[in-house]
Amino acid sequence: MKFETLAIHKGNLISDKNKPVVQPITLSTTFEHGNEGGVLYTRAGNPNRLALEEVIAALEKGVDAAAFSSGNAAGTAVFQALEAGSHIIAPDDMYHGLHNSMVMLFKGVLEVSFVDMSKLEEVEKAMRPNTRLIWVETPSNPLLKITDIRAVSTLAKKHGAILACDNTFATPVFQNPLLLGADIVMHSSTKYFGGHSDILGGALVTKEKNAFWEKIRTVQKVGGAVPSPADCYWLARSIRTLAYRMKGHAEHAMILAEYLSNHTKVEKVFYPGLKTHPGHAVAASQMTGFGGIVSFTVKGGAKEADEVVSKLHLFMNATSLGGVESLIERRAAVEGPDTLTPPNLLRVSVGLEHTDDLLEDMDQALG
Ligand SMILES: *Cc1c(COP(=O)(O)O)cnc(C)c1O
Repeated sequence: MKFETLAIHKGNLISDKNKPVVQPITLSTTFEHGNEGGVLYTRAGNPNRLALEEVIAALEKGVDAAAFSSGNAAGTAVFQALEAGSHIIAPDDMYHGLHNSMVMLFKGVLEVSFVDMSKLEEVEKAMRPNTRLIWVETPSNPLLKITDIRAVSTLAKKHGAILACDNTFATPVFQNPLLLGADIVMHSSTKYFGGHSDILGGALVTKEKNAFWEKIRTVQKVGGAVPSPADCYWLARSIRTLAYRMKGHAEHAMILAEYLSNHTKVEKVFYPGLKTHPGHAVAASQMTGFGGIVSFTVKGGAKEADEVVSKLHLFMNATSLGGVESLIERRAAVEGPDTLTPPNLLRVSVGLEHTDDLLEDMDQALG
């Protein structure tokens, strides 16, 4: 089945005599013993979570998925599954919450090197005998850097390391890292999967059910950072329209990126769909669309960038991304003093409003 069909028909496990068209929310925390192959206790498994995991695994072309209570919980589960003393290679530009997880929660337990993943030789140079995990995020947050997943996967295999990819920005509509050589895919389902800025969630998908995946399942079940049945229900519901929403987000992002590229008040635009983007060729070789996030720097500094944000009406000044509404944020202000993000950079999550209205609003704000 094709993506759009899977998105609608997986993630809907119906076993009721009344044959509802939509799977109900199963609130029961416990289940009668003796239901062969069924669930026992909701932290370890729930019918709504099973449905959600099934649809996410299918869309990412994996064999199994594990749902978590947030994207950060999902990413952190991968780090928790590593042996103490393992070394991670991670991107210098990545979601700051997972960067914080690596450096704040695993200090003295795991070693981490942050490198420019768009340069393969940097990744190779960072390899150590105890390198167990290469963590990739492409396109990256907030600079939209592109990593060649196939090339890094070759490197990971050569050194016996696991390759995990945060696929939140691309979504499986535009990129399937498992088909490009990754072993694990991670999502913040708070973003495009949820799509309406009202659910927190995360997921991991695996290419193989191996010992490492078993450890991740143990972290999920024993650690207990699992989503509620209602959250799983709403996520499975949102995923049914993911393909159509992503087409809209990417189309609108391209229009905004082109508009910004031609504006005299704009210094630089970061969007992998633009031919001028240094990662465009690699992005085009591994993605079927370029996503809905556009970053740009405003001429001047933080003050000039803040001024643009304050004049916007449709683009709300708020963190997060992936919802139907357009959001804008000056990332350096959120990421703190040691960020590499330029102070005048604005990140836009381009929503599904009509692009005429979006461009008109941006036009009056840039002046
Ligand atoms: C938001 C985000 C995360 C973290 O997800 P939460 O659901 O907020 O915990 C991880 N990676 C990326 C790329 C994100 O945008």
